[in-house]
Amino acid sequence: MTDETWLAHALELAVANVAEGGGPFGAVIVRDGALLATGQNRVTRDNDPTAHAEVLAIRAACADLGDFSLAGCVLYTSCEPCPLCVSAALWARLDRVVYAADRDDAARGGFDDREFYELFARDRTTWPTLVHGNRHADSFAPFEAWLSKGDRVEY
Ligand SMILES: [Zn+2]
Repeated sequence: MTDETWLAHALELAVANVAEGGGPFGAVIVRDGALLATGQNRVTRDNDPTAHAEVLAIRAACADLGDFSLAGCVLYTSCEPCPLCVSAALWARLDRVVYAADRDDAARGGFDDREFYELFARDRTTWPTLVHGNRHADSFAPFEAWLSKGDRVEY
């Protein structure tokens, strides 16, 4: 199986998902040349704005492996991952992410991926969602608890 074959599978999942009432996005995760997990966009079906195909594929792959790391795996996705999904891929420590359509295609399809990428280059005060710090006396307390826990599982 080549990158092109796996991308074709992700694209098939994306097209099929539209017919089933979902968003036009599909993803597969491959390990050692074998299919490990798939994901299809479930935002509207599940009323979950984070139910992107890549996120669902990552969740399914991790559940299957019983591990929070996907090191050694490759994510193939029908479209360039949005900032949420590219961050999820980084957190999952995937070896590689390969996508078919890009953020410009997504914009033509009516999706905000490119706009969200562009937000990161702008001052947060211009964002549609206000995101700001509010330093608290106990701001570092969770990390103190974490660092003093001898048997913590690093990730
Ligand atoms: Zn996404």
